[in-house]
Amino acid sequence: TATLTLGALGACSSERTGDAGGDGSAAPSDTLIGISMPTRSLERWNNDGAHLEGLLKKQDFQTSLQYADNQVNQQISQIQNMINDGADVLVIAAIDGTALGPVLQQAADAGIQILAYDRLINGTENVDYYATFDNELVGTLQGKFIVDQLDLDNAAGPFNIELFAGSPDDNNARFFFKGAFDVLKPYFDSGKLVSPSGKVPANIDGWTQIGIQGWVSATAQSEMENRLNSFYTDGKKVDVVLSPNDSLALGITQALLGAGYTAGDGFPILTGQDGDVANVQSIIDGTQSMTVWKDTRTLGDQVAKMVGQMVAGEEVSVNDTESYDNGVKVVPAFLLEPQVVVRDQIQEKLIDSGFLKADAVHGL
Ligand code: BGC
Repeated sequence: TATLTLGALGACSSERTGDAGGDGSAAPSDTLIGISMPTRSLERWNNDGAHLEGLLKKQDFQTSLQYADNQVNQQISQIQNMINDGADVLVIAAIDGTALGPVLQQAADAGIQILAYDRLINGTENVDYYATFDNELVGTLQGKFIVDQLDLDNAAGPFNIELFAGSPDDNNARFFFKGAFDVLKPYFDSGKLVSPSGKVPANIDGWTQIGIQGWVSATAQSEMENRLNSFYTDGKKVDVVLSPNDSLALGITQALLGAGYTAGDGFPILTGQDGDVANVQSIIDGTQSMTVWKDTRTLGDQVAKMVGQMVAGEEVSVNDTESYDNGVKVVPAFLLEPQVVVRDQIQEKLIDSGFLKADAVHGL
């Protein structure tokens, strides 16, 4: 109902500060860019929002940056407010990739252009562009890391592995899991990898069964605790855990520490993604093995450029016109490359590049 009420307001709104959706003639200072981010609870989104807003301001645009507390309805009403405020372009990192169809229809009706940020928005034609890191590659890098670390092509195994996936409503989560599972599946088939909990989907489509709603660390922790308590009795040990991102890795680490695993060489191999400060510290401390780093500054740079092009009515730079079908259309995308960071690379990749401040972590 909130949608309907605010929707009616949106339809009445005629105040537009710019003309980006029209003939592209508006000055940047008359152009409002709405930035809708999912939550402040994850470090990366704070960095993403601040960086992108700064870049857009440098281009002289007006901006409205909103965080939605991981609540879909809150995100919808924030987008509605941006429409009412006369936004010209909306940059949206969706909480639920399937829930924004109606509000984006209102936006499109008001001539607003839409760019999906990091996460694709599904089931609507009203997504003009998508910019992200190659999500499947994130998973592929995690899967290959596990294969390399265990030397699975040579070692006999079997190794005990536990699999986790991301939030079932996040369109990226399937790509992450698919990338990793495609790499790992042959080793399950050959018996080199076994999962004592049995929580291995029969095929990619079953990934939601092991998805952690909302990417919440505490949920991953209790799930891991349950698996440890139920399936790792009698001295059985976890060798490796596939975690799709850093927030889940934090919870999984807590569960492992609580069950008596100690940091360092004996700790299970554990993957992650994002390069969050707490997780970089875990890598230094020896509880997390790697993170797939997405330099969100480069995503912001690319999006700021695309927004500038969209507003000016210029050709928008994309490098992928095949991978991201949202169910209604294939959305032209710009994909950036994620990269693995292990302990030895923290200084060079994360600190020297200015992504992390040297004093944010200790013991390096
Ligand atoms: C992002 C990840 C992030 C996760 C949780 C995903 O859509 O791509 O970088 O860790 O959401 O916020």
